[in-house]
Amino acid sequence: MIFNTPTIFASVALVALIMAFCLILVGQENKRDGMRAGGAGLLAHALAYCCFTLYGQVPLWLTYGVGNTLLALALAFYAASLLRIHGQPVPWARIFSLPLLMAVALTALIDTREPRMFAACLVLILQCLLIMAWTWRYARNGGRAYLLLLIGGGISLIGLLLRVAAIATGAAADLPYNVSNLRQTVSVSIGTVTVMMFSLGLVLMAKERSEAALRDMALHDALTGIANRRAILETFERELERSRRAGTALTIALLDIDHFKLVNDTHGHLAGDAVLQQAAALLRQRLRQSDEIGRYGGEEFLILLPDTGGDGALTVINELRTAVAAQPACFGDLVLSYRFSSGLWCGVPGPGDSSDSLIAQADAALYEAKAAGRDSVRMAPARRS
Ligand code: GH3
Ligand code: MG
Ligand code: MG
Repeated sequence: MIFNTPTIFASVALVALIMAFCLILVGQENKRDGMRAGGAGLLAHALAYCCFTLYGQVPLWLTYGVGNTLLALALAFYAASLLRIHGQPVPWARIFSLPLLMAVALTALIDTREPRMFAACLVLILQCLLIMAWTWRYARNGGRAYLLLLIGGGISLIGLLLRVAAIATGAAADLPYNVSNLRQTVSVSIGTVTVMMFSLGLVLMAKERSEAALRDMALHDALTGIANRRAILETFERELERSRRAGTALTIALLDIDHFKLVNDTHGHLAGDAVLQQAAALLRQRLRQSDEIGRYGGEEFLILLPDTGGDGALTVINELRTAVAAQPACFGDLVLSYRFSSGLWCGVPGPGDSSDSLIAQADAALYEAKAAGRDSVRMAPARRS
């Protein structure tokens, strides 16, 4: 089927304009999430297609030169939006050097046919490759929206390469923007798909990013950055189930900083916060990757040591005690020594063991450690079967 080329250009311009308006409106809310840059890209895309619609009726420098420069500007904004969505710094000069190159090349080559078409395709190809490379680098690990950008970029590349092939084989005369033939219908439809995929991809990507940030916030402790109580308890339930099924040992350790109230009372709450932050970082750093740590309460941490029996667990906790003693926290010029007491539960969880019952036993052991003078470890008695 062959469509009227200027009509497709005009409809894409209209759709892009509406979407640009929506994105810019949404982007006002949060200036840093890349929606405004995406909206600016769509606006440039819409204006580019308006220029193409006028092909043959107004001078070529406007329809071809300005039109393709606006198209390059649109892709530059899409790239900027992608980086912003992922919280990356935007190298504005690098990104906008390509539309500038397009403007310069088309100004110099406007009176030629094949060279100006080659130059335009080449710059757009470079921009698509850049967007695809950045999508791959920054977006492939979170969500599925990156697929839309990769597919959109891939389709545009195919379209541009088809154009290059047509120009190289002497068919450039078939490709002016006011001619309607099969080649133009395919080429312009590919452009339409690109607009849709890039804009939808960017919006979905921003949505995925903000959802991931919310999930992250819901599971991490704001002060220390480690798992919060809810997250560590969820992990505990999973580990408990896994150990029960596999019949492997599991250790849980409750750590409580000794006389922590004194730090607050003597040096202030901010000093106390610094101790908590540095203690959490030190403990996390000293544990194995497969161990888990979370902030269970104010100055209490819950540690899970999978596949670890009593002796191993005692060694780990005593190593943590040594590390804490060797590396006091700093707050301004203050050096704040702190110690902790710990209560452990070790064993292979049985059918009657629940997270609550095991924590209660570790807590009782912690209470014993405190009663014994603090800076010590106690283990809950083994279950009698
Ligand atoms: P013990 O050796 O018996 O554990 O004594 P302690 O002083 O550590 O225990 P206590 O439970 O009396 O005090 C805990 C203190 O921790 C009280 C509370 O104000 C403080 N705390 C809880 N959360 C935070 C926090 O986020 N930041 C700061 N700075 N202090 C906190
Ligand atoms: Mg406490
Ligand atoms: Mg305490």
